Amino acid sequence: MKTKECPSCAMEIPKNAEECPICNYEFPVQPKSHAWIIWLVLIAFVLMLFGGIARFL
Ligand SMILES: [Zn+2]
Repeated sequence: MKTKECPSCAMEIPKNAEECPICNYEFPVQPKSHAWIIWLVLIAFVLMLFGGIARFL
């Protein structure tokens, strides 16, 4: 099993653990799977921006 080091108590704990079983340190959740939604909103916003500019040309 893969392990990671707890930044709070420096113990080796399971890599998939969301919090340390020794000191109850909570690991920050990395929202990697939602990154594409941010890009989608960003692209939609840029398209809307260009659409607004096109009206004035
Ligand atoms: Zn810990």
